[in-house]
Amino acid sequence: MPPVEIVFNWPKSLDEIPHVLWILHHQLKSYIVVSYFSSNSNFWGSIYLLRDLIVFNFIYSKLLDLFNVILGYGLFKSIQNLYRSISGYVSPKILSLPFIKSKIDKELNETVLKIEKEIMKNSDDLKQFDSLPGNGLPVEEVESELVKLQKLKHSDWNNGRVSGAVYHGGDQLLKLQSDAYHQYSVANQLHPDVFPGVRKMEAEVVAMVLDIFNAPETGCGSTTSGGTESLLLTGLSAREYGRKYKGITKPEVIAPITIHAGIEKACYYFGMKLHKVDLDPNTYQVDLKKVKRLINSNTVLLCGSAPNYPHGIIDDIEGISKLAVKYNIPLHVDACLGSFIVSFLESSKVHGDKKLPMFDFRLPGVTSISCDTHKYGFAPKGSSIIMYRNPKLRECQYYISSDWTGGMYGSPTLAGSRPGALMVGCWATLVNIGKDGYRKSCSSIVKATMELKSQIEKNPILSNYLEVIGDPLGSVIAFKVKQNQQKNLSIYELGDLLSKKGWHFATLQNPAALHFALTRLTVPVLDELIEDLVTSTEEAVKLTKEKGSKSGDTAALYGIAGNVHTAGLADRIIVAFLDTLYKI
Ligand SMILES: *Cc1c(COP(=O)(O)O)cnc(C)c1O
Repeated sequence: MPPVEIVFNWPKSLDEIPHVLWILHHQLKSYIVVSYFSSNSNFWGSIYLLRDLIVFNFIYSKLLDLFNVILGYGLFKSIQNLYRSISGYVSPKILSLPFIKSKIDKELNETVLKIEKEIMKNSDDLKQFDSLPGNGLPVEEVESELVKLQKLKHSDWNNGRVSGAVYHGGDQLLKLQSDAYHQYSVANQLHPDVFPGVRKMEAEVVAMVLDIFNAPETGCGSTTSGGTESLLLTGLSAREYGRKYKGITKPEVIAPITIHAGIEKACYYFGMKLHKVDLDPNTYQVDLKKVKRLINSNTVLLCGSAPNYPHGIIDDIEGISKLAVKYNIPLHVDACLGSFIVSFLESSKVHGDKKLPMFDFRLPGVTSISCDTHKYGFAPKGSSIIMYRNPKLRECQYYISSDWTGGMYGSPTLAGSRPGALMVGCWATLVNIGKDGYRKSCSSIVKATMELKSQIEKNPILSNYLEVIGDPLGSVIAFKVKQNQQKNLSIYELGDLLSKKGWHFATLQNPAALHFALTRLTVPVLDELIEDLVTSTEEAVKLTKEKGSKSGDTAALYGIAGNVHTAGLADRIIVAFLDTLYKI
């Protein structure tokens, strides 16, 4: 009789099931180990017993995985997911059958040609280089070539008509940044001994950003090359933290479906399973109940955005923080986009007395935050900050090699050498603008955004057809076609029409929608934006009547991407786009 007793307490509510199972799981493990060693069987008997235990363990762990999936997603959604993954596997096989394939390839080639035409701009008066010039060009010639290249037909960003993309801080700041680059263009953060001034500036940049996100004394962080690197690092740190301190070998991450693709990339790069959670249909924030259901003993990280890229909505970080504390799991807040807008909402008083949501280190569950200095911080492109609540978490993102032939090596982020000049540009920007400057920029950008929001809600034409998604508080407004107008207006047609007028809205899917991230450059042209939005909506309604609600290139593209059977083709179009980037 083995000396371990199994005590099973029936769960009192659905919420308790994972906990009860967790206890049972550990009891079973010890039961098996103890029974094995206390069994009195002979040599062959114990070999057979071992064999049985290995088989049992295999089946048991598969069943546990299955159970976690069903518990996390519910039976219906699990079956739906299974169907999707089978379709994702089978459909490409069907589409590659010879007679279907040739037809598809033909259409795909046409799309690729269109992409090339769109992307690969060139002109007869430009020099062409497909190899190094034998003799280097004189400086004046290179400079005149640069001017010509700048003039290639492009989306006019400097008139404020592009959503996001260019976060311009003014001409004077641009000059300061260029001077900084000029002075520090050879600097490399890999060598703090050679560039002690750069080290000091980098440490101060991190400290300044920690301060605006209300980090505790123990707060720390590092600078990175951009939001994606910050997200990759927070993913890596969470995985290593889970492995080191909790022995988690099959790490899982839980994030809203609206989380930035950088988190998907982190899970893909670092071998973690990502659970994407649906939104609450009223608030467009992540559905907390579903987050809770997906938490299990493999969860290494919870995520939320402040705000998210698609809709500009701040998740209920307070709610997620409570879960993070309760289950002792790290929580990352993606404030890459929010950056110097969300952190100045409170002090700029741009929303008056309205109660603002909490999202920073003042919430006890928040363990890391990413903030892009190269967005609303107006620093030169290629700079972002990843912050942690304590050095133990940051250490988990470090790469250390003490026995490398090249000498003892350590690097804090993904890159080895890092462009010191960019970091110096960032430092110069932050100290030049200061808290007061950021409060002012936050105030003017958010005011303009709220004006756009209220126009969509009040203008008779806009409000008849369009609907703002959720209750955005920052610099991004997303809108979709109202439920009862779906047949009368195609949102993608509207996007295409706006494009023709020079306005570049971002295209969204699930649901089909458009968004605009306002920048400093958009503020002075807001009236034009609203005017063009109204006239384009009227025109799009006419066009939709003539051509149907699924017409147009963009609608066709998203039609392909949105269907499980053809999603593989959409992937091929993206690959073609990426290949085009390097065609000469
Ligand atoms: C821009 C952005 C990021 C990071 O993107 P990068 O292009 O790598 O700077 C991350 N999250 C959100 C919400 C963003 O808008």
